[in-house]
Amino acid sequence: GQCRVVCPTGAISINTNIEVIWDLLADKNTKVIAQIAPAVRVAVGDQFGLPRGENVMGKLVNVLHRLGFDEVYDTSYGADLTVIEESEELLERLASGENLPLFTSCCPAWVKFCENRYPDLAKNLSTCRSPQQMFGAVIREYYKDPEKNGGKRIVSVSIMPCTAKKEEILRPESSTNGKQDIDYVLTTTELITMIRKSGIRFENLEIEASDMPFGIGSGAGVIFGVTGGVTEAVLRRLREGHNRVEMDKIKFSGVRGEEGLKEVEFDYNGRTIHAAVVSGLGNADALMKKIQKGEVHYDFVEVMACRRGCIMGGGQPVPAGPRSRIARSKGLYDTDINTQIKKSNENPLILSLYDELLKGKTHELLHRNFEAAKK
Ligand code: SF4
Repeated sequence: GQCRVVCPTGAISINTNIEVIWDLLADKNTKVIAQIAPAVRVAVGDQFGLPRGENVMGKLVNVLHRLGFDEVYDTSYGADLTVIEESEELLERLASGENLPLFTSCCPAWVKFCENRYPDLAKNLSTCRSPQQMFGAVIREYYKDPEKNGGKRIVSVSIMPCTAKKEEILRPESSTNGKQDIDYVLTTTELITMIRKSGIRFENLEIEASDMPFGIGSGAGVIFGVTGGVTEAVLRRLREGHNRVEMDKIKFSGVRGEEGLKEVEFDYNGRTIHAAVVSGLGNADALMKKIQKGEVHYDFVEVMACRRGCIMGGGQPVPAGPRSRIARSKGLYDTDINTQIKKSNENPLILSLYDELLKGKTHELLHRNFEAAKK
C-alpha cells in the first residue's frame, strides 16, 4: 500500500509509492516502464561515493533493470518532443501576435502558480505537455500494440527530481482517453532509498545504454534540467545551422548562468525575439507583476519554480550546497558536449516518431488535454 513520508522541513508530507512499486516489479503480469529525467543522473553518484555531479545515467539504467524494470528510457527524449512542439507554438504566436509572451509549461509548480496568482495570464502558458507527460502519452500509445505489451498490464513510472511532478500526473489534462498517462512518480531520493534497500553496490555497476526505441535524447533535451536549458534548446531549434560556432553563439547569448532572471535577445529571420529566463517563484512573481503592468515586453518566458532549475528540485538529495549545484549543472552541460546530436529536431528517433506513431496525433498526445480538464 501507500505510505507517507514526512518532509524534513515539516512543511509538507509527500506521498511515496515505493511499496507499490516493489510489488509491481515483482508481478509477472505487469510490464514496468521507467523514464529518467535529466537532472536525476547528476545527483545520484555522490550518494554512493562517486564524484559529485558525475552523469551516472548508464549505472541508473543498469540498476533499474536489476530492480526489475522491463524497459528504461530517457526523459530527454520527451524533452526533444517538447522543444519541437513549443518552438512551433512560439512561431504561431509570433505570427498571430496573440497570447505573447509564451510561457513555458514544463514545470508544474510554475503552471499552478501562474493559474492561481495570475489567472488572466494563464492563457499565455504553452499548451504543450511537459516532457514527462508527452513521453507518458507516447509510451501509452506505443504499448497499446499487443505485440509490444505481450498481454501484460503496462505501468509507467517516471523518476523525477521533483515532488510537484507527483501532482502533475494527477491533473485531468495529464490523461489520454480517460487514462492517466503516468502511473507513478519516484523522486531521486526515493530511488536512492530503493537502491540502498536492494543491497546492490551502485558504485560498482557497469554502465548500460537506455532501451530502444526511446533511448536517445539530444544534448538540447539533456540541458532541460538546468535553468535556461529550455530556452537554449528552443534557440537551437530555431537556428538553421548546427556547427560549433552557431552553438557557441547561443551558449554565450546570456542564456546560461545562475542568475534568477536572465534576458536574451536573438534574431529570427530578421526579427528580434526577446526572451526572459526565470528561476525561483519569487523571481517569477516579480517578473509577472512587471508584465501585468506593461513595464516589460517579452516574446518567450521560461520559468522554473526551483532556483537554478530541476538540478535543485525538491526531490533531489539534500544537503546540496554551492559545490553540488555547480557540479550538477556542469554534469549536464558536459553531457551535452559529449552528445553527437545537439538539436531536438535532428534526433532521428524523434523524426521517425513523427512519421509513424504521432501521425495525426500530435495534438492528442503532446498537448494538454483541456477538454478532459473541463469535465
Ligand atoms: Fe520540479 Fe523544480 Fe523542476 Fe519545477 S523546477 S519541474 S518544481 S524540479
